Amino acid sequence: MPRTDLAIGLDSFLAGHQAELIGFRRDMHAHPEVGYHEHRATRRLALRLSAAGLRPVILPKGTGMLVDVGDGPPDGPVVALRADLDALPIADEKAVPYRSTVANACHACGHDVHTTILLGAGLFLAGRAAAGQLPGRVRLIFQPAEEVPGGALDVLAAGGIAGVDRIFALHCDPRLEVGKVGTRTGAITAACDRITVRVTGPGGHTARPHLTADLVYALGKIVTELPAALSRRVDPRSSLSLVWGRVSAGSAPSAIPDDGVAEGTVRCLDDEAWHQAPDLLKALIEPVASSYGVIADLTYERTVPPTVNEAASTGLLETAAAEVLGADAVVPTPQSLGGEDFAWYLESVPGTLARLGTRFPGSAQEFDIHQPTFDVDERAIGVGVRLLAGAALTAIADGASGKDRGLNGKLLAEPSPGTALTANGAGTTPA
Ligand SMILES: [Zn+2]
Ligand SMILES: [Zn+2]
Repeated sequence: MPRTDLAIGLDSFLAGHQAELIGFRRDMHAHPEVGYHEHRATRRLALRLSAAGLRPVILPKGTGMLVDVGDGPPDGPVVALRADLDALPIADEKAVPYRSTVANACHACGHDVHTTILLGAGLFLAGRAAAGQLPGRVRLIFQPAEEVPGGALDVLAAGGIAGVDRIFALHCDPRLEVGKVGTRTGAITAACDRITVRVTGPGGHTARPHLTADLVYALGKIVTELPAALSRRVDPRSSLSLVWGRVSAGSAPSAIPDDGVAEGTVRCLDDEAWHQAPDLLKALIEPVASSYGVIADLTYERTVPPTVNEAASTGLLETAAAEVLGADAVVPTPQSLGGEDFAWYLESVPGTLARLGTRFPGSAQEFDIHQPTFDVDERAIGVGVRLLAGAALTAIADGASGKDRGLNGKLLAEPSPGTALTANGAGTTPA
């Protein structure tokens, strides 16, 4: 494909900004902040974006921000790009000049890279808007607390995706070479919830189970029956699986205990099955418990839904990747059973999360995320800027098909509530 104006524009933007962006990433890497403590990163981003003429709106809890780029026609397309700001509470074990200076905090999931990429894409798009070359609006979402998880819910509560037609995000993938982008339609990450079943009964002597309730037997039935029943009541394509990690009851061989507990995880790749899981489990437990005269209480702890990539958005990102990175940049990526709170956005608005290759080509060292030695080939930053800026412009040009305004409640002209920095960043004004 011949190089387009967009690809050439990105070349010249990156030639002028690459060093600044790598410096920003290294500074952020050296000063990691865990979920809801991302004050330094928030401040630096707000200052830089304000200096570019943008108006960041800080989220109500004080970290993270929303920044709109461009105006576009009043009912024109709005595309959101999302990055996450938080680090992990683990020690940095790398020997690099930009190693973490904070004890027990490290950007081991690459969120410093995601943030830097979104900053770069935002600055590039701001330049396009100033030149009258942005026929829509792009909302930059710098989200706090992905690892906690739940920062996405703060963005939603602040009206952060009201009016948004599509949303895109990238996540570092150390198994994929720099320059490559992994895409997938459908589930790309999983839900992983925790369940606890507490069983209680009167207790008694093992000589007379008929005069009491045989709690250990009932607990055993629940532990074996539940996964079996689930496999027949839920579409196998949803990959919903319940696996127990702990079972405990009793203390003496001849005494039937009066309580016991089983704990496990529920993993799921399908959004509908994930929504149904708590009620279904409850309905399956009750008849087993009542058959044996015990009471079973289910505690179901939600973490995040599965991230289910929408086909059209994935196609738009692939089209953009071919234009700005080359036709062979896109590769298919497998499903992961990890969780990612980007899933919350996709409950309300179509979008896609893609894997960004960060692997050093030819390197013998294998990196993995959430490891204290995790690092990236920093050329991934330029790749990510091209990709996110390209995806936004491609989606805007596509004209907001799949638009479903108002799904998430109010449509806001300006995100609120929050605080906007003034253009020079010297003070704050209400949004
Ligand atoms: Zn992570
Ligand atoms: Zn992550």
